[in-house]
Amino acid sequence: MAALAATPFLQFSRFPRKEKIFSVGRIGDVILKGGSRVFSVTQLKQRRRFCGNGKDCKRKVSVRSAIAVAEKNEVAPVEMEEYDAIVIGSGMGGLVAATQLAVRNVKVLLLEKYVIPGGSSGYYKRNGYTFDVGSSVMFGFSDKGNINLVTRALAAVGRKLDLIPDPTTVHYHLPNDLNVQVHRKFEDFVDELYKRFPHEKAGIDGFFGECWRVFNALNSLELKSLEEPLYLLGQFFKNPIACLTLAYYLPQNAGAIARKHIKDPELLSYIDAECFIVSTVDALRTPMINCAMVVCDRHYGGINYPIGGVGRIAVQLAEGLVEKGGQIQYKANVKSILVDSDKAVGVQLANGRKIYAKKIISNATRWDTFEKLLKPSEMPERERMFQKIYKKSPSFFSIHMGVKAEVLPEGTDCHHFILEDDWSRLQEPYRTIFLSIPTVLDKSLAPEGHHILHIFTVAWMDDFEGLSREEYNAKKESIADDIVERLEKKLFPGLKAATTFREAGSPKTHRRFLARDEGTYGPIPAGIPKGLLGMPFNTTAVDSLYCVGDSCFPGQGVIAVCFSGVMCAHRVAADLGVEKSNPILDKGLSNLLAWFRTLA
Ligand SMILES: Cc1cc2nc3c(=O)[nH]c(=O)nc-3n(C[C@H](O)[C@H](O)[C@H](O)COP(=O)(O)OP(=O)(O)OC[C@H]3O[C@@H](n4cnc5c(N)ncnc54)[C@H](O)[C@@H]3O)c2cc1C
Repeated sequence: MAALAATPFLQFSRFPRKEKIFSVGRIGDVILKGGSRVFSVTQLKQRRRFCGNGKDCKRKVSVRSAIAVAEKNEVAPVEMEEYDAIVIGSGMGGLVAATQLAVRNVKVLLLEKYVIPGGSSGYYKRNGYTFDVGSSVMFGFSDKGNINLVTRALAAVGRKLDLIPDPTTVHYHLPNDLNVQVHRKFEDFVDELYKRFPHEKAGIDGFFGECWRVFNALNSLELKSLEEPLYLLGQFFKNPIACLTLAYYLPQNAGAIARKHIKDPELLSYIDAECFIVSTVDALRTPMINCAMVVCDRHYGGINYPIGGVGRIAVQLAEGLVEKGGQIQYKANVKSILVDSDKAVGVQLANGRKIYAKKIISNATRWDTFEKLLKPSEMPERERMFQKIYKKSPSFFSIHMGVKAEVLPEGTDCHHFILEDDWSRLQEPYRTIFLSIPTVLDKSLAPEGHHILHIFTVAWMDDFEGLSREEYNAKKESIADDIVERLEKKLFPGLKAATTFREAGSPKTHRRFLARDEGTYGPIPAGIPKGLLGMPFNTTAVDSLYCVGDSCFPGQGVIAVCFSGVMCAHRVAADLGVEKSNPILDKGLSNLLAWFRTLA
């Protein structure tokens, strides 16, 4: 995760005749914008050489060269101007919000602290391996229906990636030799469950039947902002049954619904594991809507892996954003959100620069947004309430490995989830192992004859505090050794000896490279939640400040944050007057939603 070896290219379709550089100074950041006036000094020189006198031309500018330039501090700052919207952070939530605004001709600037886009859905390269930083199981990435939000986000900016269908979403290795392969075809998957739990056939049908009811309702709607009343009314008149179905399931959790249908404790534990891989909590605390979205999408559209790695999605969105007239600035660490008369008006970067916009969208977690980018002492009541209902989930301990291909048995699945011994330990740190081997699908990610193993397990930041550098490194290696040993026993004998590369990251690594408070995976309910009722949408109590990403409705996971990005862009566009809106209805709905949240 630590490294960068990115070579994505941005395609600039035209260059302006007139370029302004306001000053040349020690600015550690760079602006890349298609058809804009804002480039580094070196890029401007290169462009003159290639284009001749700044005439319109078409060629590629390497992001890597731009970053190198930025690192040498020979970059000019942008001209000071006001944007319609600034997005803080280029995770999938931020990228989707920014691109959806750019295609509506909103003047948007995306500021990213790190050197490439994607956040938890980014990538890094080492020793010939291309590793996914976090997400590897891509939901919402098919060519069917309305919930294929990753595909749709790319299509909005004219992009499409080549995909490899994954025949098995995940292979579970669970206590008491419960082995379940989640096959692409729903019937094949439930057949596995029927075989193991023949006495629960009706229960299995009942639970998954309700999941499909929720999924089909969601999938029949055009997904936009649930905070925009005109859209909501339109959808209600078009499809009242779907809307009422979703309203019915909104306050419910998967665990409670599973218990209506299923009695076998082992099968209920299996449903816990299904929920845990989505939400890091058991089924009783996982909202039904989140559970249904993933357990059905994997069979409806199927899980598909992008050739070149998951990081390609973010890179394509970033390129698409630039092509549609938006801007991205990397190495732009937002230190604070500027507020004037209770209204967000801009941001201040770590280098002191202030940039202003009509609307500010934070893709940082709500904890980072309201405790770091804003003064914690001024936290609005609505956020205090959120922090009562939701707490930070733990982080992860990650291992990225390169191994000799022969160590994997023929037919090994791409994604695995392992809990060896005791169901009661499901949510304990280091107990479960998530494993992805994306080279099973895309060999181009590793040198010939090798595979990638991306392993992670739940871990807390506290475990790594107060250690010297030597102690910290020794602890990471010892945890990694232990996990590799467990994988040797369970799946791949000889794994240690077959390892050619290994790098471990702790919650501190997650905090550092993903800029997430305590490296958290996102919000988890403090108690038993009322489904998604308490989860905030995109508007905040601070005028003109919005949040997007996994600490907003509907929560963690790429499909969920893409949904959040689409919703956020719609609400912001309505508030900018680019989409239809009605201030009286807006106010009414906002009050109603605030009241609903008090019931959570
Ligand atoms: C190890 C791991 C495995 C996962 N596996 C899967 C999976 O298989 N399938 C799945 O669907 N989901 C998976 N997820 C979850 C999924 O990746 C996340 O829910 C999702 O990517 C979060 O997106 P986001 O936009 O909310 O935020 P993030 O990805 O956290 O992005 C936020 C961005 O904002 C930037 N930022 C933050 N603060 C600032 C600031 N002050 N200034 C400038 N920039 C800032 C950060 O640098 C970062 O780029 C996984 C997550 C992890 C960590």
